[in-house]
Amino acid sequence: MDLNKKSNIREIKNKHDFRFTKSLGQNFLADRNVTEMIIGESDIGEKDLVIEIGPGMGTLTAMAAERARKVVAIEIDSELIPVLADTLREYENVGIINNDVLKTDLKQLIAEEKKTDPEIEDVRILGNLPYYITTPIIMKILREDVPAASITIMMQKEVADRIRSGPGSKTYGALSATVQYYCEVEKVCDASAECFIPRPKVDSEVLKLTIRPEKAVSVIDEDLFFACIRAGFSQRRKTLGNCMKQVIGPDRQKVNNLLEEAGIDPARRAETLSLDEFARIADCVRESI
Ligand code: SAM
Repeated sequence: MDLNKKSNIREIKNKHDFRFTKSLGQNFLADRNVTEMIIGESDIGEKDLVIEIGPGMGTLTAMAAERARKVVAIEIDSELIPVLADTLREYENVGIINNDVLKTDLKQLIAEEKKTDPEIEDVRILGNLPYYITTPIIMKILREDVPAASITIMMQKEVADRIRSGPGSKTYGALSATVQYYCEVEKVCDASAECFIPRPKVDSEVLKLTIRPEKAVSVIDEDLFFACIRAGFSQRRKTLGNCMKQVIGPDRQKVNNLLEEAGIDPARRAETLSLDEFARIADCVRESI
């Protein structure tokens, strides 16, 4: 059955007496072009393991299973487990885990899959993410160094804009800097609210995040680097001289000296700083301790 058709999603919904749960971000994709874009841009090879976040009724899962060696899909809603058993019954290479992705040890899951099947090559993560936890999911995958080659995900357009933005843009912030430190970011496509059932209130966008083999910049102390990014963007209207007190301490002269040592004018604002400049600040602070 083609799950990209709204009529078919309604039919499955009725067959299983399933009700959409708004609080779980259940807006199911029903647009073949967008599904094909997500799967196509995920670069799934025949020896790859796909981890899907929030399979819903299995629209992306089925298409991923046609290409991958194995798909493991993590779905929080137990009401969807019998639905997925039905819609994905013809695929022997699909495993469903009924769990909260934020509570799932993805590194261990991947290690176990690779142990069971040493032929597995790359890991591809994909999903039409529940919008209420998009940022925590992305942060979990990146900060836990989950060994994936790429992450192709649908999210609310505003969040995608923030992730793609560079220095000088109003939407450039801690999320942009953190994701770009770990990944190359590419826009895959837009998805209007019409592509989903039920229709969400916002438009969406698909991004492909390709995990860099080496981080975008090298830093002595990664935690301190992220602390500098967080402090810099904590009060967007304030200068770095002010914001960096959170990391360096209350002595304004010391803050100014360290920023100048890093070649950064203390009167600048975080939204103008490149990753390289944040790295220089973090390294100067580290060396001063
Ligand atoms: N992939 C399906 C599609 O494109 O039609 C469903 C996408 S829907 C936007 C988000 C899915 O994520 C829902 O199935 C929802 O139940 C599931 N979900 C929500 N929170 C979750 C969590 N914390 N862990 C795992 N799945 C979650």
